[in-house]
Amino acid sequence: MSIYFTPGPSELHPATLGFLNKAIEEKIPSISHRSKQFEEIYKKAGDMLRSLLKAPSDWQVFFLGSATEAMERIVQNCSRRKTFHLVNGAFSKNFFEIAKDYKRQAVEHRAEAAQGFNLDQISVAADVELVCLTQSETSTGIWTPPDHIKILKAKAPQALLAIDIVSSAPCVDLNFADFDLAFLSVQKCFGLPAGLGVLLASPASLQRAQEIEASGACVGSYHSFGSLLSDAKRHQTPETPNVLGIFLLGEICAYFVKYGRERIIEETRTKAKLIYDFLNSHSSLKPAVKSPCHQALTVAAVSVPSGSASLIQKLKERGYIVGSGYAELKDSQIRIANFPAHSTEQVKALLTEMA
Ligand SMILES: *Cc1c(COP(=O)(O)O)cnc(C)c1O
Repeated sequence: MSIYFTPGPSELHPATLGFLNKAIEEKIPSISHRSKQFEEIYKKAGDMLRSLLKAPSDWQVFFLGSATEAMERIVQNCSRRKTFHLVNGAFSKNFFEIAKDYKRQAVEHRAEAAQGFNLDQISVAADVELVCLTQSETSTGIWTPPDHIKILKAKAPQALLAIDIVSSAPCVDLNFADFDLAFLSVQKCFGLPAGLGVLLASPASLQRAQEIEASGACVGSYHSFGSLLSDAKRHQTPETPNVLGIFLLGEICAYFVKYGRERIIEETRTKAKLIYDFLNSHSSLKPAVKSPCHQALTVAAVSVPSGSASLIQKLKERGYIVGSGYAELKDSQIRIANFPAHSTEQVKALLTEMA
């Protein structure tokens, strides 16, 4: 059987199979989302996720359809007029485009191709209400180091700062005092089937959303922050949610907490070092991102000067599915995911095939 090194959906975590079996045995897909049993599943998933990410207990955990939905809900509920977007790939661009779709004055700050942001040199106007950063830009393999996020927050203290941690959480050490909103989906580092987005919202962001709604602005309907919050207070959701997905998230977060987040982060670093050391010493394959501090630990973008198609095919024949480059980089790069589901032995074996 092949191993998926694609940057999402990706290889399921080995523990996920046991959780899926447990869900079927306990008939989780059949329970009512208004039952006590569901409320406990919601509470466990929220508590375990906060505990795993070291999020404060007064942050809300909302369940959405996808990370893309989280971008739209944040724009709707946390801005009226002006948003600011750090764009260095397809996902950050999507966040920016969503703000434009909602007729916000969306300001785009673009990085040079394959480069990270120099946050010290960014200036954000005083009337910007929402700043959006894709901490791990999966499409280009570029990271903003987590300890740089506070630089951005200091540039716009009046604004809410939203960060996309879809392809880095929980493999990244974040300080929740540095931002106001964070979101993820479960088919990347959590090693679960796709179909669930998660939004973590600070008290400050909920307060702002309430003011915006009270001002008469349109903030959406069943998934407005107000609607999500009123149901979340009893550990419910406005609609019938992805109950199975929420159950699996609670199980894998509890598993990760027990396994040790420090250990997960350490293993991510170790495997990333194997990958980047390999690329730095290879005769033709190279990291697409040159500056080491901006090389994403969880997704390596690799320049393939001879074209990526034949390498992807060769690896596939040997049982390794890797990602192509994203959009216009499709033929010139491959992308390799480094998620908790991928063991050191599997990474070594993949690199041996690439040698
Ligand atoms: C995959 C990804 C998304 C989109 O996630 P969906 O669950 O498909 O909405 C957004 N941002 C980043 C950084 C991603 O890697």
